[in-house]
Amino acid sequence: MDVNVKLLKQICEIAGAPGFEKRVRDLVIELVTPLSDEVKVDNLGNVIAVKKGKKNPDGKRVMVAAHMDEIGFIVTHIDDNGFLRFHTLGGFDPKTLTAQRVIVRGKKDLIGVMGSKPIHVMSQEERNKLPKTTDFFIDLGMPKEEVEKYISVGDPVTRDRELIEMGDCVNCKSIDNRVAVFILIEALKKLKNPAYDVYATFTVQEEVGIRGANVAAHGINPDFGIALDTTIAFDVPGAQAHEKVTELGKGTAIKIMDAMTICDYRMVEFMKQTADKKKITWQPEILTAGGTDTAGVQRMGKQGAIAGAISIPTRHLHQVIEMAHKKDIADSISLLVACLEQMDSYDWKH
Ligand SMILES: [Zn+2]
Repeated sequence: MDVNVKLLKQICEIAGAPGFEKRVRDLVIELVTPLSDEVKVDNLGNVIAVKKGKKNPDGKRVMVAAHMDEIGFIVTHIDDNGFLRFHTLGGFDPKTLTAQRVIVRGKKDLIGVMGSKPIHVMSQEERNKLPKTTDFFIDLGMPKEEVEKYISVGDPVTRDRELIEMGDCVNCKSIDNRVAVFILIEALKKLKNPAYDVYATFTVQEEVGIRGANVAAHGINPDFGIALDTTIAFDVPGAQAHEKVTELGKGTAIKIMDAMTICDYRMVEFMKQTADKKKITWQPEILTAGGTDTAGVQRMGKQGAIAGAISIPTRHLHQVIEMAHKKDIADSISLLVACLEQMDSYDWKH
């Protein structure tokens, strides 16, 4: 299966800091409307695209969640020289802020650079210390009066990086989690005959604590749940065999657990069986640090949901150079479609 890189690029590059997902949400609504029976947006901003099951007398609901937000920043202060101070929205490794371009989303989009103290003027002690996010500021190259025409405290800031292809991989900012947004949209296109009613949910504010998925699952009250998110591929120099979590190009990853969820053993088994039946390459995923929307999907409905997750192996996670393999992306689409079409063929009571 070919991956539509042009669409993936558009979805990855658009802005959507946690709590400020409007631009990516508008794009998602435009893309899913022709593919769904109904599209709703809840008060928190989650987009819920419903596709009815063809043979679903009990009205069973499957929630599929992919978060739309990306890690970003919020402006906290504009100083007398026009430099911005900021707070992080989501988990950053401070050293990855060095030498980055960002876009401040005020009345007008303005390019900024992440400034910090040059090594030439650092003391020996400062050189030996790891940077903190508070060591950085955003330089817009403008005096305060000019900056204040466009930017206010509270404006969101996102990272600036284009999607490129490298070998069989794609590389961009926000592969976490726009690759899953892309997979869910591509699955809706291919989904002919879903077993149960599918609630394709594009959630907000995952990167600050699974806030959107919690609300959406509460509203949908699903019987079954599948979250879609990136996971660590630590298949790089220096990694021990047992530390890799997943490897690029080795197929879609079936989540067994992450730090916030133990996936339902039946969902894990159903996914493995479905993948094997359809000859889809897969690898198991156990992530001992970090949570995903799986937690909200599993626990926020009235009786909980039988839930699991399909994960996309990704190198350099939470950096602007996140990398995923096109084959793993294609395998993830295939597995999601197969699971949604065959969910009624599994004995969930065993
Ligand atoms: Zn994510």
